[in-house]
Amino acid sequence: MRNQSLPDLPRRILMGPGPSDVHPRVLAALARPTIGHLDPEFVALMDDIKALLRYAFRTENALTIPVSAPGSAGMETCFVNLIEPGERVIVCANGVFGGRMKENVERCGAQAIMVQDEWGKAVDPAKVSAALKGNANVKALAFVHAETSTGVQSDAGALCKLARAAGVLTIVDTVTSLGGIPVETDAWGADAVYSGTQKCLSCPPGLSPVTFSTQAVDAIKKRKTKVQSWFLDLSLVMNYWTGQGGTRTYHHTAPVNALYGLHEALLMLREEGLEASWKRHGEMHAALVAGFEAMGLKMKVEPALRLPQLNAVEVPAGVDEAAVRRQLLASFNLEVGAGLGAWAGKVWRVGLMGQSASPVHVLTCLAAFESALQAGGAKINAGKAQAAARSRLGLA
Ligand SMILES: *Cc1c(COP(=O)(O)O)cnc(C)c1O
Repeated sequence: MRNQSLPDLPRRILMGPGPSDVHPRVLAALARPTIGHLDPEFVALMDDIKALLRYAFRTENALTIPVSAPGSAGMETCFVNLIEPGERVIVCANGVFGGRMKENVERCGAQAIMVQDEWGKAVDPAKVSAALKGNANVKALAFVHAETSTGVQSDAGALCKLARAAGVLTIVDTVTSLGGIPVETDAWGADAVYSGTQKCLSCPPGLSPVTFSTQAVDAIKKRKTKVQSWFLDLSLVMNYWTGQGGTRTYHHTAPVNALYGLHEALLMLREEGLEASWKRHGEMHAALVAGFEAMGLKMKVEPALRLPQLNAVEVPAGVDEAAVRRQLLASFNLEVGAGLGAWAGKVWRVGLMGQSASPVHVLTCLAAFESALQAGGAKINAGKAQAAARSRLGLA
């Protein structure tokens, strides 16, 4: 082992599927003095964080808190609290994360009724409607709003509407969408929504904002069985996060400094404004795509379904996908993502999330790709990408 404090870590440019670049304001907040998690000052901070999360999720839900663990724990929180053994859940899968939802359902002792769509396609509301009509006694519909494995968005509003009409609760994954594209918890009528901090909120990984509708809270209160996870049992966590007038009771020690960071990142989101943040993600995406296409590369997903914050770029024939990523990291400190599952070796996943959705990121990324592709012997249209992206960015 190296007998020293942290070695000089490289300064990476994070443009993968998360984490994204963290702003110095957030890093500075993380380094502030640790105080007790029941300190009145910290309790006030918890209230501020809940209010800021309601802003980000566009909800009035009282039960809106950050779970003290990464996005996967937010996912698990939704499933273990809402689903009881023997129940049935319709799970939509159009990429990696829908498959994880199925795992969660089955580990709750429940049955997952799968609605499958191809990688690169959105969840098909017609198939969901048929599944809701064709199956009785369904407790919940679960789907991923922004599939990070493919860079595809699904119509969350339409899917929630179908579920509400059928009297079925919804569990919605917004880990990659929150802050990057509209997440309209209340307008959609979504019941249990979870997210993560390290994607478009640009915080370090490790926290998972969640929000629950009154219908979801009622369903939790009506449970016949105890939640299988002690740590994620919201009936216990709620007393800690929502206790009134200083009556918060100890459940676990909150990750105090991580929450300072989340607070600062959410403040920055509110300063910019959600709508402005969505617009920025869209503009950076348009510029990045213009640059890649000018280079002669192809986007994997059809335009109408593309997530601005996660861009799946096809690896040209004969190019070694991993070698290009290694070169990007070694020569430019640039991290992009590899393809997963069915798309392994076939795409790069280029993230434009939160702080990483900036003109500097777009232009740097295009220049680095151009260089790495040329070094790897790929036939590309050299010297065109910067101008194409700059023109999209309005930088003549
Ligand atoms: C990243 C991600 C998760 C998991 O979040 P972690 O913080 O890695 O646990 C879940 N769902 C989606 C869609 C994601 O992109």
